[in-house]
Amino acid sequence: MPARLTVLSGPSGVGKGTIVAELRRTDPHIWVSVSCTTRAPRPGERDGVEYRFVDRATFDEMIADDALLEHAEFAGNCYGTPRSPVLKHLDAGTPTLLEIELEGARQVRRTMPEARFVFLAPPSTEELVARLAGRGTESPEAVAARLARAEIELAAASEFDHVVVNHDVAEAAREVAALIEAD
Ligand code: 5GP
Repeated sequence: MPARLTVLSGPSGVGKGTIVAELRRTDPHIWVSVSCTTRAPRPGERDGVEYRFVDRATFDEMIADDALLEHAEFAGNCYGTPRSPVLKHLDAGTPTLLEIELEGARQVRRTMPEARFVFLAPPSTEELVARLAGRGTESPEAVAARLARAEIELAAASEFDHVVVNHDVAEAAREVAALIEAD
């Protein structure tokens, strides 16, 4: 029987990456899709692990080939989910997780409405702003773009099937894992 797709979304800085890293450790049977992006790697990020890092021409080619399940522009860079690995894992019965931003989640909602949509929310807006500003890996312009986008994303929480508040990484990861596994 095909497994279900779960989409984890929420504003930049809310801790989606940390939750996904925790899930990879605690629930290795869940397959996490590797997105393509035109963003430059951050220190420590490895091609093919956190992302597949591609140039704009390659990204555009993937769009033209209809090779992406969804794609969106975020803070000046392109991000997209390669379609065939997702379908392959679902067909094989492997619970599959996408960690993507709001526009991409909305596209998946249209094309795969049977997926489960989970919104990761910060304990408070103040905490999110502090986290985004304090990350130290982005230029002031990029931080400003992410903050503006975060407000839009926060307002969309009610579009999702479930909201998980990231008070504590281990607890939030357990909640997300339970949603991925639940019938
Ligand atoms: P970051 O640059 O911080 O790694 O990611 C920026 C945003 O892009 C995050 O909200 C992340 O969830 C989102 N993102 C990562 N991969 C994808 C993808 O394949 N598609 C879409 N739509 N968003 C993505």
